[in-house]
Amino acid sequence: EMISRKLNELLESPYVFRVSSRRFALITYSLKDYERVRAGLMDFFQTNLPVGEETVSLRTVICGILHGEKMKDSDSLLAYIEYLYSLAPPATDTLMIQSDENTGRGFRRNKEIEQFLLTAVEEDLFEIAYQPVFSIEKGDYIALEALSRLRHPSLGLIPPDVFISIAERNGTIARIGLLQLKRICRFVSEHPQLLSRIDHININLSPAELLREGYSRQLLHIIEEYALPCSFFQFEITETVATDYSEHLYRLVEDFTKCGIQFSLDDFGSGYANLNTVLRLPFSSIKLDRSLLSDILRDNKALLFYRNIVTALHSMGYCVIAEGVESKQQLDLLCTFDVDMIQGYYFSKPLGTDELFQLLFPENHSDLSC
Ligand code: C2E
Ligand code: CA
Ligand code: CA
Repeated sequence: EMISRKLNELLESPYVFRVSSRRFALITYSLKDYERVRAGLMDFFQTNLPVGEETVSLRTVICGILHGEKMKDSDSLLAYIEYLYSLAPPATDTLMIQSDENTGRGFRRNKEIEQFLLTAVEEDLFEIAYQPVFSIEKGDYIALEALSRLRHPSLGLIPPDVFISIAERNGTIARIGLLQLKRICRFVSEHPQLLSRIDHININLSPAELLREGYSRQLLHIIEEYALPCSFFQFEITETVATDYSEHLYRLVEDFTKCGIQFSLDDFGSGYANLNTVLRLPFSSIKLDRSLLSDILRDNKALLFYRNIVTALHSMGYCVIAEGVESKQQLDLLCTFDVDMIQGYYFSKPLGTDELFQLLFPENHSDLSC
């Protein structure tokens, strides 16, 4: 309420609408007005706001669309605003994202992907690549991370972060998650030698699917259907999920862990998480984000930071996995930090079935029918 009053006050006569609890839309009718409003908004949201005795800073993403009247209808306009919003990096200060030719192209591409996702779900067109995870202690691969792949007939391979975030927004993520778990279970039951070759397969779960009513039962049901041991599966969730929904999530995670499914905290160190909340959940392992690794060979502080995180997580009993290891130098350094497992291009990229079997079962690969 206070914000919409302030906006009206501040901006002299543009139209102010409240689109949802945390979204406001402002319409101006000339470029001059647009620029005045834009400058006013930046000023307003970059300064701390007085609330009672205190001041608070409101991180705000301001999305600007020029010539909104050219959009087909108001739904397309709102969808374009959501698209611009999705381009904002997480946890930065107030910032402005303005439409241009690039964002227009990106938006049209997104719409095309969104359309294609519906077909892909109907026809189950997804694939999975498996990235091996290497245990330093055993000197061998002991786990796989399942990573979704989707190929568009003309756009080519669509990166999973792109189609997953679209699927999260339009709700298809839940069906994708179930299809992919089935695919993984089918794959393992057709190749039972995997059960003795590796300890577990890691599967990424999005908040939007995990927190759905009844979803955990559906996941467990699929594993039961294929008569596979729950302990063969580990779910990966990210810091943001773990922080945002702690209560509900806590119960879910407990349900799964009772059945023997372990949880891994993904992308640790990539965002601003409340460490307390994160550490209250019963994770068995923590995956350190690739971004923490980028400077450790050049910057002593980055090196000390990484090393101390590993030590701290170890002392709390977690298994620590380094993500995104690309070079021998990084690997050697990480070995001296006592990291438990390594995942990264240095050992292997995510692989298709054939390559995976060549890597895991080199001696009898030629006998395999995949
Ligand atoms: P993630 O869970 O952090 O997965 C690791 C990503 O890092 C993968 O990207 C992998 O290919 C990439 N990677 C691994 N080693 C290296 C390395 O040494 N260097 C570099 N530069 N990259 C490396 P990918 O396959 O493109 O997946 C991106 C993200 O999409 C995943 O990040 C995950 O968050 C999400 N994702 C993928 N499949 C699924 C899925 O089925 N469901 C959900 N919810 N999310 C998925
Ligand atoms: Ca992951
Ligand atoms: Ca990760």
